[in-house]
Amino acid sequence: MGLMEPYRIKVIEPIPITTRAQREQALARAGYNPFNLRADEVTIDLLTDSGTGALSAEQQAASLRADESYAGARSFYRFRDVVEDLTSYPHIYPVHQGRAAERILFTALLSPGQISISNTHFDTTRANLELLGCAARDLPCQEARDLDSAEPFKGNIDLVRLEEVLTGPDARAVGLVVVTITNNGGGGQPVSLANLTAASALCRRHGVPFFLDAARFAENAWLVTQREGAYAGRTPREVARLAFERADGCLASLKKDGIGHIGGLLALRDDALAKKCEGLLIATEGFRTYGGLAGRDLEMLALGLLEATEPEYLRARAEMTAYLAALVTRAGVDIVAPPGLHALYLNAGRLLRHLPPDRFPGHALACELYLAGGIRCLELGSLFLGALDEVRTLITPAPHELVRIAIPRRVYTQSHLEYVAATLAAIARHPERVPGYRVIEAPALLRHFSCRLEPVMPVGRT
Ligand SMILES: *Cc1c(COP(=O)(O)O)cnc(C)c1O
Repeated sequence: MGLMEPYRIKVIEPIPITTRAQREQALARAGYNPFNLRADEVTIDLLTDSGTGALSAEQQAASLRADESYAGARSFYRFRDVVEDLTSYPHIYPVHQGRAAERILFTALLSPGQISISNTHFDTTRANLELLGCAARDLPCQEARDLDSAEPFKGNIDLVRLEEVLTGPDARAVGLVVVTITNNGGGGQPVSLANLTAASALCRRHGVPFFLDAARFAENAWLVTQREGAYAGRTPREVARLAFERADGCLASLKKDGIGHIGGLLALRDDALAKKCEGLLIATEGFRTYGGLAGRDLEMLALGLLEATEPEYLRARAEMTAYLAALVTRAGVDIVAPPGLHALYLNAGRLLRHLPPDRFPGHALACELYLAGGIRCLELGSLFLGALDEVRTLITPAPHELVRIAIPRRVYTQSHLEYVAATLAAIARHPERVPGYRVIEAPALLRHFSCRLEPVMPVGRT
């Protein structure tokens, strides 16, 4: 099978075509932070794959059939049945998005001073833990350190270090282990079922709750069918079921593999924990049968979860990302290998060798992609993950200077991706021309969302 999506376009949306002068003005006004741009100043928006997917005709039809009753709506039961079939968890709560599930679960389960362990905590997951006075500790596997290696499961949690923590001096403080599938903070790399099985067994042995952050459970399942021999003949849905089976519950943003514009999920096995969560849910999100969502959202999510686990859809998505990866690599830009599904992670540190970490090469490449082609993407380097001092100077750089090019589900075509690759190739011909940046304004929490910066021209240029 070659490159071909198992769907065609029925409704279109024009995208803005802008001039370089317009983009220069827009980016300056945005404080050189693409998060501050207006979306209608962006030609190809690859900032995130979250809530940006295209709906199917069936999802839209279902939204009209939705039941908007406050309690016990038909739409809730449709949603619950799909989630129950997939996860086998008895307690299923919709929430308005993934971070609400994080806040509710952590508030119910943890007390200040406790530790959460993960392959890599997502940024809001970490923020919700820290807001509760808990600590988030990442234990990515050793293979994840080498960005260039073709290791199939670089999203795995480090089982040796996990066991060390669970048997070491901090053991009693560990309140939770949460494995993110796929590992978004770790290059979008998948987690093997073997790794999940072993991590789950370790947690069970030490009496620690084991959860999945399952935002991209279907994409992880696809990569397991492709890369883990023991599951080669299984469907993505079967593999997803096996993953959920290994955990005590899951948190999920349904804006990714739920193919919804909004929505999240908290699902649990434990009755007592569920009761506590339900109280918090009702107080802060909504009644347990809607959790802050409309009936039409629940209908669309129920179908989105089914569509996202269709093998032909996942195959096309994987091929699309692999195609872009091949073009980008040919243009001389290295990526975190091997490519996954939801994004490519460009090695900006290696491309922009003239920029030290405190000039934020990842951010510089993200800004250049916007200036050169109206393409918006996300820095995942020292601006996002590094530590700044009180005068906003970088004191601890991130381990890598990356840029994430996220691929929204069912939205862009092959020619859009070819345009992205061509824009990147033009930058890669003269990387030394790309200026660095300095931070001029930054909030304490989740800095990258709202900080402002200014360009610092390379020495010898004005
Ligand atoms: C998006 C995401 C979240 C947070 O979900 P929201 O729906 O954005 O609140 C948590 N974990 C992972 C891995 C995610 O990708």
